[in-house]
Amino acid sequence: MGQVGGTCAPLRSCRTGYACRMKRFLFVAVILTVLVIALVVGIRALRHRPGEASVAQSKATIVVVVDPAHGGRDPGANAEGVFEKDIVLAIANKVSALSVEHPSLKVVLTRATDVEVVSDERIALAAKEAAALYVAIHVNAFDKPSANGIETWVDNTRAQGDPSWTLARALEKAVIASSGAKDRGVRTQDLFLRRLTIPAAATEVGFVTSPDERAKLLDPAYQELVARGILQGIADYVATTGMTPVVSTGTQPTTQAASASTQGTAARSPGTAPKKGTGS
Ligand SMILES: [Zn+2]
Repeated sequence: MGQVGGTCAPLRSCRTGYACRMKRFLFVAVILTVLVIALVVGIRALRHRPGEASVAQSKATIVVVVDPAHGGRDPGANAEGVFEKDIVLAIANKVSALSVEHPSLKVVLTRATDVEVVSDERIALAAKEAAALYVAIHVNAFDKPSANGIETWVDNTRAQGDPSWTLARALEKAVIASSGAKDRGVRTQDLFLRRLTIPAAATEVGFVTSPDERAKLLDPAYQELVARGILQGIADYVATTGMTPVVSTGTQPTTQAASASTQGTAARSPGTAPKKGTGS
């Protein structure tokens, strides 16, 4: 017994010492592991911070007011139950939807639905949005059904050499190239656009009184060609005049307006239509 007890006592003492050393070793190891993990997580968090901040960067844009004329109780020109207000709205909504292909442009519509907008509100929108350019869209009409083609108007108070003439020529050239319609040139009219201080022009995209042109203007594919021409004209004007995009904190282009189009969804295929049409 004594021998056993004598043997056991040192053994217990030895076990106790070993256990203590192991406990100390494990304690230090756990502390070191926790410190290393905390260090790694901290470094990763610091490295990720700049990437997260860059998500909220702003875009440089040139704001363009695109103005589908008439609307609501004002139908504009009409023939055979086809109204100018509906055609220009469909084209303007396509201009807005397709403007995503021109990241430096922000298109703002004066109306995206069939509502009446007085000229004061159209002018005020340009000021509110700090617009650089103003492009109105109209449809023409004439007594004789043979009249056809596209012409672009400048207010008759704008002298030759005024930037509005440059904008009008760029629009006329690009819309003719895109649509293949007859080129009726740039002309002057008495327009409310004279109240704007920025370059402004109004494109008459065809004659509702021409049976052939009326049919084309109702065709979503042709409307898209006209819309692409308008956007190209704006882009050409910006390029030739060396306009510099300004940083905008505004919202995205009003692409959602396309869903309000009276002509369906045929224009929802940016990049698929040819730049030039035959317009035969
Ligand atoms: Zn009109």
